Amino acid sequence: MHHPTRFLILGFATIILMMIALAFIGFQATRNSEKGVNLQVAEQLEKINMVNELSTIIQSRTRFMQSMLLHDKEFIESESWPNFSRMRGAYSATRERLEPMLAPREREVMRAIDNLDKDIGTLNRQVLVLFLNGSRDEASKILLREVLPKTAPLLSHLSELTQMQRMDVEKTLLLASHEAERGRTRITIFSIFAVLVSLSVTFVAIWYGRKLSGQLQDMNSYLEQKIYERTESLLDTQKELLEDNSELTRMALTDSLTGLSNRTHMNQILHKEFSRFERHGQCFGIIMLDIDHFKSINDKYGHDAGDTVLKKLASIFESAIRSTDFIARWGGEEFLICCTTIEEEDLLPIAETIRQLVASTDFERKNQITASLGCAAIVKGEIIGDLIKRADVALYEAKNKGRNQSIVSEFTDISLF
Ligand code: GH3
Ligand code: MG
Ligand code: MG
Repeated sequence: MHHPTRFLILGFATIILMMIALAFIGFQATRNSEKGVNLQVAEQLEKINMVNELSTIIQSRTRFMQSMLLHDKEFIESESWPNFSRMRGAYSATRERLEPMLAPREREVMRAIDNLDKDIGTLNRQVLVLFLNGSRDEASKILLREVLPKTAPLLSHLSELTQMQRMDVEKTLLLASHEAERGRTRITIFSIFAVLVSLSVTFVAIWYGRKLSGQLQDMNSYLEQKIYERTESLLDTQKELLEDNSELTRMALTDSLTGLSNRTHMNQILHKEFSRFERHGQCFGIIMLDIDHFKSINDKYGHDAGDTVLKKLASIFESAIRSTDFIARWGGEEFLICCTTIEEEDLLPIAETIRQLVASTDFERKNQITASLGCAAIVKGEIIGDLIKRADVALYEAKNKGRNQSIVSEFTDISLF
């Protein structure tokens, strides 16, 4: 996978993971605080219930004591007395359950309640004894003057206790609401943090991705440049090789001294003309030229002077031949001209023109130079070798007849040659 894409995916995966983690933390925190608040509130409500229960018992007991004065002894013994005992038992049980749940300041109030209850208990017993002994008036007096005045503060203490606990509940709920607020703030901060981290990761991923693709692009253009340079140099080398090759080909087909075509090249030209002749019957002819007494020039003026003469002759020949014809240095001081698209009778005028040109050229201090020429035009049934041989024979004849002349070979019978 491409690097930037991988980083982007990693960045987004981080965002999603952080969001999930955040949601989980938030949910867990809220649940825990809710659980804590619920437990606390349940406990406080239970306490309130117990205090209410105590109030109810005390109120019932007071009512019972008051009602006692209105009934006879038998009724009390049979109906109310067991109720009274049950009330005492219920009070003690509730009081015992309440004890461990009390906060220090609640315990103080409870102690005052206990003291009052203890006094009331003692007085109640006195009232009961008096009542059962028949001193109903005495009993009423104690009840009204002592028991009831003590009962009122006891109930007020209990109500104070309830009030305190109600305030506790309110406080707990307030705390819980603050806690929930804090939780919300925490989650908001976490969310912002997560978004910031995620954005940073994404930006880093994008930046890094861009950097990598930039590096890749640089590397790519560097490689492209290198390939271009290499290709250019290969093309140059190829061009040089091709040039060398064509130079070699040219050299292989050129005579180094005169710059004319050499014998090899002339052979190729002759073969081409010959196949044209065979295919289309297009006639061609050759003129073989040999410098007369060239050896004496070398002997008199030196080999270099001979070379200079050969070069000058070459340029004379080149300018003398038709544009459709070819000339080559056939060997030493021998030249061969190939006249394309020509009839036999047209060979002599060309040969004569060249001969006269050589004879009339001024070669400075050297003796007048002349040349002998032998011509031959191709005939049907003849091969190139035969044609060259006929031209050679004609040249030999020209030499024999005194040189500085041109002779055209007349085809008679090939077997004669
Ligand atoms: P002929 O009239 O019978 O043709 O006499 P010739 O002296 O021209 O003929 P021959 O065959 O006896 O001599 C040819 C001379 O051409 C011999 C040789 O030294 C000279 N020669 C051949 N090639 C070169 C060359 O490249 N440079 C120079 N300077 N001389 C050459
Ligand atoms: Mg010769
Ligand atoms: Mg010669």
